[in-house]
Amino acid sequence: MEAKLTHPIFKIISVCATEMNSSAYVIGGWVRDLLLNRPSKDIDIVAIGSGIELAQHVAKKLGDKYQVHVYKNFGTAQILYEDYNIEFVGARKESYRSESRKPIVENGTLEDDQNRRDFTINALAISLNKKDYGHLLDPFNGLKDMEQKLIRTPLDPGVTYSDDPLRMMRAIRFATQLNYIIEAQSLASIAKNKNRIKIISKERISDELNKIILAPVPSIGFKLLFDTGLLQLIFPQMALLQGVEAINGKSHKDNFYHTLEVLDNISKTTNDLWLRWAAILHDIAKPQTKRFETGHGWTFHGHEDKGARMVPQLFAELKLPLNEKMKYVQKLVLLHLRPIVLAKSEITDSAIRRLLFEAGNDIDDLMKLCEADITSKNEYKVQKYLKNFELVRQKLKEVEEKDNIRNWQPPISGEDIMKTFKIPAGREVGTIKSAIREAILDGIIQNDYNQAYQFMIQEGEKLGLKSD
Ligand code: ATP
Repeated sequence: MEAKLTHPIFKIISVCATEMNSSAYVIGGWVRDLLLNRPSKDIDIVAIGSGIELAQHVAKKLGDKYQVHVYKNFGTAQILYEDYNIEFVGARKESYRSESRKPIVENGTLEDDQNRRDFTINALAISLNKKDYGHLLDPFNGLKDMEQKLIRTPLDPGVTYSDDPLRMMRAIRFATQLNYIIEAQSLASIAKNKNRIKIISKERISDELNKIILAPVPSIGFKLLFDTGLLQLIFPQMALLQGVEAINGKSHKDNFYHTLEVLDNISKTTNDLWLRWAAILHDIAKPQTKRFETGHGWTFHGHEDKGARMVPQLFAELKLPLNEKMKYVQKLVLLHLRPIVLAKSEITDSAIRRLLFEAGNDIDDLMKLCEADITSKNEYKVQKYLKNFELVRQKLKEVEEKDNIRNWQPPISGEDIMKTFKIPAGREVGTIKSAIREAILDGIIQNDYNQAYQFMIQEGEKLGLKSD
């Protein structure tokens, strides 16, 4: 098969390779994505011989503007051209030792280089050489696997996964992103080699996990991770959600599959990684808070609070960032039941104000999470909740327009209180400040300076303070 290489850069690389008496090929992900119609900006070029020298020659031909970034340790070179990231490397042969995923590398042929690739769909190459320019080199029938939507390793899967266990995560990631099946022997081999994942750094595992989470239907990946036993090793807290217990004929729902439904639901409305993480973690403390109460059934009291408190530790273990993203996820986990409670009962303005106050600008994301959390099989119930949520949303809008609570700033500051009563910073200032806040949230006074000022004077007097 011939592939169409429309971009002029390929011809330039071809001419340079000929001038150097070398051969060059485009290989790997860019070729896969070309055939899948998913244009990519990362181009990998393999040269027979020195990739660095080829890159230097190409850069010279492109003109002074373009620089080669050489990574001597890896034997690679990079040119940033337009918005493309072009990487050059010499064809190599790899062999592995058991304790590391870093191979021993030697110079090799194109075939050696294709052999070291993880999957047949990632081993495709297109020739940039004069004699067969544009010809697709597909030694492992990657094209056929694409048609059959199959993830398959070029060589024995047992060796492939054991050599570099990151490939197990990559297999599941590609299966999820592309909605492909992992070939049976390969899947069995992942389950068999799962313990090898321990030699992979947490950062790399999380990179792959995040790519799974960002796929259109992330549950595909999580089910594969669970079924192969990898999830139990890389993210045991999530695996613990799986299972159903029954007492006196009463059972609770399986929180693992429920969480996956919520994750898939929210993935239809957002591409934000952290909102998707909030969906994954919203019920994470259910196993620890599960109780059976006679006459009542299964309860998970306080799981939102405990779950929120688990977030920093989980993020640290998974090497996710410990910054405002973590705080955002924590907040959504903590508040995830609040709109549901509102939707079930009479909605008061003060309950809405409190929710707005606590959620701030994340209120819309919180509402998305709550709607995604409705996974009942009972269509009547689903419709009822969704309708109630519509009411909550409407009420949120009304109260927000009226009271401006979303980014609430106290109308009276601590400074104002200290000046009015001529007191130093201390407990009394705090007491008055929170009394004002509570009065505004409860609707006793409005969110404005004059009413808050009067209220402050009254509260001060209660504490025996005098204003001038
Ligand atoms: P994406 O761009 O979606 O992250 P990709 O696999 O195309 O995925 P890279 O991770 O940059 O992007 O890898 C480029 C190519 O290098 C792959 O297509 C594959 O041929 C090869 N490759 C990458 N990682 C491995 C690995 N762990 N084992 C074997 N080959 C690999």
